[in-house]
This record gives sequence, structure tokens and C-alpha cells, in this order.
Amino acid sequence: MRKITIAIDGYSSTGKSTVAKQLADWLEYIYVDTGAMYRAITLFAMRNKIIAPETFQVERLIETLPNVTVEFKRNNATGNAEIFLNGQNVEREIRTLEVSEFVSPIATVPEVRKKLVQQQQEIGKEKGVVMDGRDIGTVVFPGAELKIFMNASAETRAKRRYEELLGRGDTVSFDDVLRNVVERDRIDTTREDSPLRKADDAIEIDNSEMNLEDQFHTILQLAKDRIAGRV
Ligand code: C5P
Repeated sequence: MRKITIAIDGYSSTGKSTVAKQLADWLEYIYVDTGAMYRAITLFAMRNKIIAPETFQVERLIETLPNVTVEFKRNNATGNAEIFLNGQNVEREIRTLEVSEFVSPIATVPEVRKKLVQQQQEIGKEKGVVMDGRDIGTVVFPGAELKIFMNASAETRAKRRYEELLGRGDTVSFDDVLRNVVERDRIDTTREDSPLRKADDAIEIDNSEMNLEDQFHTILQLAKDRIAGRV
């Protein structure tokens, strides 16, 4: 069967990774969570005091970037790809609210984006990939056969993220999560390099009122149509 590239972009916590993972499993495609890559670089910057409240040493980040490796490795027990920073599994550490607070400023740096976009294009070069992020349909794979742009109200998204963080055992307040979701969207949509925007040929899906199953079947049907060359 013909393999295609599926780009899933959208605002923070719209459930991109959930549906991307479901699709990749069903289609037996590779799933790439590009947000995890930006989060891993952010964790590196936090650990090295390159970024902290009131501090962002952009030049130091750019200088050290060539020595930072970010890669995915498959966890054979779960079947999921997990992210490694300089050889260390950081899958859990990158999902904290603290990393979420610093990731959008880190993702504005063109050198960071260039490094990660090259890596993403390399991973997806044979097609058969579902990639989620903010610039997949516009920058990473502008020729993707299927582009989805996901949206939902800020409150719905913050509620989902809040529950996810509580489920992990993190202590967070709903207001802090909501503030973070809104602030990340603001930075992501207004940055100069590769701002978050819907590609002209992307299909927008607002899932505020949709359940996971309906959402999955809607997008799967779109993918099947593209694979069959029906659209
Ligand atoms: O998808 P996730 O919420 O984990 O992404 C974290 C952050 O990484 C986003 O808010 C955005 O600043 C950045 N990002 C990006 N480009 C991507 C993926 C994520 O700028 N392709």
C-alpha cells in the first residue's frame, strides 16, 4: 500500500499526540512527537542554567547546541518511542509544567529549530510517518499528503493537561496550567521563525465537543482516502 506523510499541527494540548499515536499504530507508521524534541532541548538548557526565571542565555545555548543529542528509542515493553537527551532517557522529566514554562522561548531560537527540523525531515524521508507539532505542515513537510490542524477552547485544553499532570502525580494548579497553555499559544503563534499557523491546505478539526473515538475515525477516514488517492 502507498505510504503517505501525515502532519498534525495545532495549539497546545489539543490532543495531537493521542490521535497521532492511534493513527500510527493503526497504519503501522512511525509516530514522531516533535514537541518532545523541543522539550528535551529545554531540559538541557534548564539543567545547565541557560534558562531560568529572568535568565535566557541564548548565545550560550547556540554555542552548546552541537554537543546536544536528542533521539528516540523504542521501549520494547510498551512499544512506544521514548526520548533520550545525550543518551539519557528523559521521557518523564520533559512532561513537567516547569519544562512547559520554558519550552516556547527555547523554540523561538532559529538554530534550535534548524537542528530539529533537519532531524525530523531525516526521520520522515521514507514517508509512512505521522508527525505532530506546530510547523509540520508548513515547514517540516509542506508536501505532506494529509495535514490536520487541531483546535479546541483554551479551557478544554487546560482541563485535559491539568488532568494529565494530576494523573502523573504532579502538584499543579488549574490556573497555572491554563495560563501556561495560553502563554505558549501566544509565543508559538507570534514568533518570527516558523510560527504556528494552519497551512492553507490543512483540514481544521475542533475537538472541544468530540470524543476520542469519533475524532480518530474522522481522521483515519481522511488518511485512508489520501492513501487510496481518492482526494
Ligand atoms: O507539543 P508540545 O506541547 O509538547 O510542544 C511543546 C512546545 O514545543 C510548543 O509549545 C512549542 O513551543 C514547541 N514546538 C514547536 N514546534 C514543534 C513542536 C513543538 O515550536 N514542531
